[in-house]
Amino acid sequence: MKLNERGLLVVISGPSGVGKGTVRRALFQMKNHDLVYYVSMTTRPKRPGEVDGEDYYFVSRETFEKRIKDNKFLEWAEFVGNYYGTPRDKVDEQLDRGKEVVLEIEVDGALQVREQMKDAVFIFIVPPGKEALYNRLKKRGTEDIEIVNQRMKKAESEFMLAHKYDYIVVNDEVTNAADRIMAIIRAEHAKTERTIHNYMKMIGE
Ligand code: 5GP
Repeated sequence: MKLNERGLLVVISGPSGVGKGTVRRALFQMKNHDLVYYVSMTTRPKRPGEVDGEDYYFVSRETFEKRIKDNKFLEWAEFVGNYYGTPRDKVDEQLDRGKEVVLEIEVDGALQVREQMKDAVFIFIVPPGKEALYNRLKKRGTEDIEIVNQRMKKAESEFMLAHKYDYIVVNDEVTNAADRIMAIIRAEHAKTERTIHNYMKMIGE
């Protein structure tokens, strides 16, 4: 008997430029997992090499705003001039099927999910230092310096929200960060509050 039937919603968040996307990709390359990732929707322009439906669903502001009105997002946020959101449709269905659903989202959105999904796990990814964050944002080279500065300013305020999360993971090395997240997911599965119900059934109480 499985002690834990419902999947876990894992929210990976943290300041922009911290490498959340890279860590998430490394997580999915690990063996023996049952993770599902949901591609977000955004109004930001596509960066070179990005693919619609893989990196994001790229849509117009009109389309996005219509979806907000129709309550089609689990969460959404406006981040440095663009909308980003998680389509609501299949998240619950996948959790009921026992899948681990991973979201990789910025801080405002993560806090909205916290309100709605009390048993989700919230992980805050941090850089090994502020300097590292700035260098990473600059190195990406896909945005001009004005956008880099706006993202850095945004990151400064986001740093202060770490206490709202269940775990803080330092992204010193991508594979280390991914290992730590996997360890958190495994430990969360064994948590008494998630397993006690089925455990009691198993022992016939
Ligand atoms: P970028 O433009 O660098 O791809 O993403 C900017 C920020 O938006 C990142 O912090 C990224 O994690 C976040 N983001 C991506 N998808 C979503 C989403 O669906 N909802 C929210 N709230 N943030 C997202």
